[in-house]
Amino acid sequence: MRPLSADDIRGSFVNATPEQLERMPLPGLHETLWDEREYLGWRDPQAARLGYLVHWMGDRPVGIVVRAASGGLRRGIAAMCSFCRSSQPATQVRMFSAPRAGEAGLNGNTIGTYICEDLACSMLIRITPSQPLQPDLVETRARRLLERVQGFTSDILRTA
Ligand SMILES: [Zn+2]
Repeated sequence: MRPLSADDIRGSFVNATPEQLERMPLPGLHETLWDEREYLGWRDPQAARLGYLVHWMGDRPVGIVVRAASGGLRRGIAAMCSFCRSSQPATQVRMFSAPRAGEAGLNGNTIGTYICEDLACSMLIRITPSQPLQPDLVETRARRLLERVQGFTSDILRTA
């Protein structure tokens, strides 16, 4: 993805309250490997249930705030992230809900989906255990990942 500045990120959120933006921590942008990211995702160390993700939609950075459901999935089962479609132990996938943009969100209207708990799908799609990594496989996974994240954001932005 194209790099994001701190200002890009702060100005990108479509479903956050002013209070949330005020206290939002930023991830380490200098350490970010932008070429290996489809979206920038991070959790909030001060508010354990909050997470943030920002991606490009054309020329516009779009950020959404998500909240992890209390209580994880049952241990010992497999679960799948709806963004990267990686199958993982259930403890590493969480139900997150995101308020819709605008008035709907303020009225408590949210959309939920299962996402990798650490919001690091981009790392997962680059791991293929016990076989050499095929560049075109990663490319395909990366494209689909971004499409799914954009689809989720589009749902959040839909006001009708
Ligand atoms: Zn994922």
